[in-house]
Amino acid sequence: MVVPPGSGWPGDLAKASTPVATSAPDVGRLAGNAPSLDHLTARVTVCRACPRLVAWREASAADKRAAFKDEPYWGRPVPGWGDPRAAIAIVGLAPAAHGGNRTGRIFTGDRSGDWLFAALHRAGFARHPTSIRADDGQRLTGVRITAAVHCAPPDNRPTPAERDACQPWLERELGFLHSTLRVIITLGGFAWASTWPVLRALGYDVPAPRPEFGHLAEVVVPGGLLVLGSYHPSQQNTFTGKLTEPMLDAVFARAADHAERWH
Ligand code: SF4
Repeated sequence: MVVPPGSGWPGDLAKASTPVATSAPDVGRLAGNAPSLDHLTARVTVCRACPRLVAWREASAADKRAAFKDEPYWGRPVPGWGDPRAAIAIVGLAPAAHGGNRTGRIFTGDRSGDWLFAALHRAGFARHPTSIRADDGQRLTGVRITAAVHCAPPDNRPTPAERDACQPWLERELGFLHSTLRVIITLGGFAWASTWPVLRALGYDVPAPRPEFGHLAEVVVPGGLLVLGSYHPSQQNTFTGKLTEPMLDAVFARAADHAERWH
């Protein structure tokens, strides 16, 4: 059982009448002609263009983790979320099956989100240091969080075709932020690699070959937009110490500094 559009889930902008993409060309068309960021967000949340991911997100919602057995699962694509006039966009990989796919909000309800929101709070971008549920009162200022792929994939691994199918949603979302956007933070190598074609499609003069990903790797593209790499706050990285709190804080300090200097 997944949450039907318009049934009262906090922050669900979709209605029964929201157009549904059922193929990659549909995604391109419905993203391209979305009249506003809210319309785009609503359309993302009802997308069914990738059969494998539709099956996986809905199967994950039916096969609940024991700790959440009494909770409803969102089970739909998880849209970008945060400040519609953000200076900083954070691009992740994809929602977690029992995190965003459960709560309906990106990086909400899992360990990666605990790390990310704690760092956002320390940096002054998030009202609370935790992100637990869609109705927890969390609020982002100056930051929007999104993902290269909006549906939870098996093993956290979308296929190249799924990534490409989802790209127009990200293109249009970043396009709506264009007038305020100063920094894109990519969490992990997948998001880093996925962001460059999006920027090229939006008309940015991006470097070729693609710059190498690393923690605090950065490129300022002509016009001044900073693309900043960060290790993903996955449990694999945080448990092993590959990513520490000071390392993540350094990412947000660099992003804030660049966003402020722009003015
Ligand atoms: Fe649609 Fe993206 Fe989900 Fe594919 S991954 S079904 S394009 S929202």
